[in-house]
Amino acid sequence: QCVVHCPVGGLQEHDDTGKVFDALADPNKITVVQMAPAVRVAWAEYYHLTPEFASAERMVTALKQMGFDYVFDTNFTADLTIMEEGSEFVDRFTHRERYTWPMFTSCCPGWVRFLKGQFPDYTDNLSTAKSPQQMFGALAKSYFAEKIGVDPKRIFVVSIMPCTAKKSEAALPTMRTVSDDPDVDVVLTTREIVRMFRGEQINPATMEETPFDSPLGTGTGAAVIFGASGGVMDAALRSAYYLVTGSNPDPDAFSAIRGVKGWKEATFTIPKEGDLSVAVVSGLSNARQLMTDLEEGRVHYDFVEVMACPGGCAGGGGQPIHDGTEMAEARGNVLWNIDKKSPVRFSHENPEIQTLYREYLRAPLSGRSHHLLHTDHEGWKMPNQK
Ligand code: SF4
Repeated sequence: QCVVHCPVGGLQEHDDTGKVFDALADPNKITVVQMAPAVRVAWAEYYHLTPEFASAERMVTALKQMGFDYVFDTNFTADLTIMEEGSEFVDRFTHRERYTWPMFTSCCPGWVRFLKGQFPDYTDNLSTAKSPQQMFGALAKSYFAEKIGVDPKRIFVVSIMPCTAKKSEAALPTMRTVSDDPDVDVVLTTREIVRMFRGEQINPATMEETPFDSPLGTGTGAAVIFGASGGVMDAALRSAYYLVTGSNPDPDAFSAIRGVKGWKEATFTIPKEGDLSVAVVSGLSNARQLMTDLEEGRVHYDFVEVMACPGGCAGGGGQPIHDGTEMAEARGNVLWNIDKKSPVRFSHENPEIQTLYREYLRAPLSGRSHHLLHTDHEGWKMPNQK
């Protein structure tokens, strides 16, 4: 069995490709796969392709050829995470006295484990919004299963992630929302999916492009930047600004928090609400320093994004490894460029997200949204926790 060590937190990558081959061969299973934002700018490194040629849509063709019934985009639920987390932030910000500050993003399981293990008193500061991966799993087995009229137990959800920590996130007892099965059945890293392509002699480099399936397949520019440090914060601020003021900001208004520097901070003014102090941190040594400084009162923020991997998911532990070369910045720049060229750059303008709320969830933070899309970070314990 292939086991690769993750550079974050000493987690191990167990090879789960066999489980996916078994599901693809099972006629009773409906196989659904999602692809994370950061995967699309890394898979092509194995084939020495330019990022412009190596599109996500070429991966879609390859995944269909492998036998997946539906190929969806985690960008869809990245937009949904922004809707839920942005609404949560606005709610907290307008009822400041009810909460402890700052609010932390919660979409990086490496960071969530670090906080719960090292600074457990701050667990309530985490946003309750699930990560895009987990929102996707819950929706695939509820909304999507209902749409195609099948028992959720027949749906087998596979994630392709830049991350080894996502495997343990999917296995948490709190991530079985729809039935007693996990919402996400198997998580593959970028390295594992490329191994599967090679084993099946599928070469995405020679393929035409195919669009993602619908209804979980549309993402905006605000979603794709989830893969780069600062992207979640940038996307959340774009929609939080809209939620508070009723109009869109310049999509580049929050660019001060972009880039791979390990600790960035800025203050932005939101009309009607006032000044908002934010920080964006990546890498666990920076996260430790951040928490120490917060505890000792040296820094004060309203909203903080933390990613365990330096540079964010673009440099994640499940991505291709090039000895001696760090690729997070180059991959992140490709993601920021995709955002810049996207026709829609605000999560709240994603038409499939608008349909999802109209048809199924009703509104951000509704009862159904809470059930499917939010989690209780106290609902599971770290190994050393009493
Ligand atoms: Fe995973 Fe690293 Fe991204 Fe966190 S920053 S979600 S550990 S790849």
